[in-house]
Amino acid sequence: MVPPGSRQALSDGPNNPSTGFGENILGEAAESDPVRLPDLATVFSRRASRLQALAPGHELEGFLRLIAALVTAQHAALANLPPGVLPGASEIAKAQLVHRAPLDPSFWRRDESWRVALSRILETIDVDVLPEPAREARAALGRASPADLEALADRYLGGNVAAGEAAQAIFVAAALQVAWTRMAALLDSADFATREVDGGQCPVCGSPPVSGLISPGGTKFGHRHLHCSLCAASWRYVRVRCVHCGSTDKVSFRNLAGTSYLRAECCEVCHGYSKVFYLDNARMLEPLADDLASLGLDVLVGEEGFSRVPNPFVLGVMEPSGS
Ligand SMILES: [Zn+2]
Ligand SMILES: [Zn+2]
Repeated sequence: MVPPGSRQALSDGPNNPSTGFGENILGEAAESDPVRLPDLATVFSRRASRLQALAPGHELEGFLRLIAALVTAQHAALANLPPGVLPGASEIAKAQLVHRAPLDPSFWRRDESWRVALSRILETIDVDVLPEPAREARAALGRASPADLEALADRYLGGNVAAGEAAQAIFVAAALQVAWTRMAALLDSADFATREVDGGQCPVCGSPPVSGLISPGGTKFGHRHLHCSLCAASWRYVRVRCVHCGSTDKVSFRNLAGTSYLRAECCEVCHGYSKVFYLDNARMLEPLADDLASLGLDVLVGEEGFSRVPNPFVLGVMEPSGS
């Protein structure tokens, strides 16, 4: 591992440097950066706003309102987290040389700041929108020891969450997103600027994307950026190419009737799929929120035998109350 003296200390609160590389999710950027780091000021607040806008009248209204409350609590949890550590430029370059993402959770050991974020999320979330399993999970997490929480985080990150702890794992996922998004935002985007990303995994933390957004500009057809499920970074990825296996051979598309701004890109080689949103047709998209609001498309392509890594907030247990 990396000697502590060579790590760059994370600053805290208002001293955080601005990255200047916001997500540009409204499509205002004509030029396309290979890797964009998240903007802490807006990443969770825009996501919460989008979820609240999507919720009214939606068949998953209760669920979307619940996740909106969770994301609102994530935004509040960002403030004044304890200082942590980040990889420096040389450590990032070393990780890249061996094709590792520098903030890969199995490679970069997390500090305690994610547990501080978790306790803030548990304290500040709007309890009124939580269904009973989520309330029980919140209470159980409040009683859990740090060692138990670390073990649950390891199980979540390793994809080994038991059915009975899925509701707790959603709060844990939210807290880990806060910690990883902050780390990603504080990295220097120049360390990623010269590298063309060649994989479907996040170049910052190695996690799978929640969805891809195609923004106008650049070329006639626009660029696709994939959006990370953990650290909220995004990276440019060739269009019409499987994000799972890289194949360009047998890629086909599915969409729901009446939704031209969204398609599932399905790969006949590995039977994986990913969602693609088109910003030129629907301006206010947010990659994680709109993924959750379009689970009907996941059902459709799932029935055809295609699969993906699910959105972190879809673990099957936090069903909307009363529906
Ligand atoms: Zn990431
Ligand atoms: Zn594939």
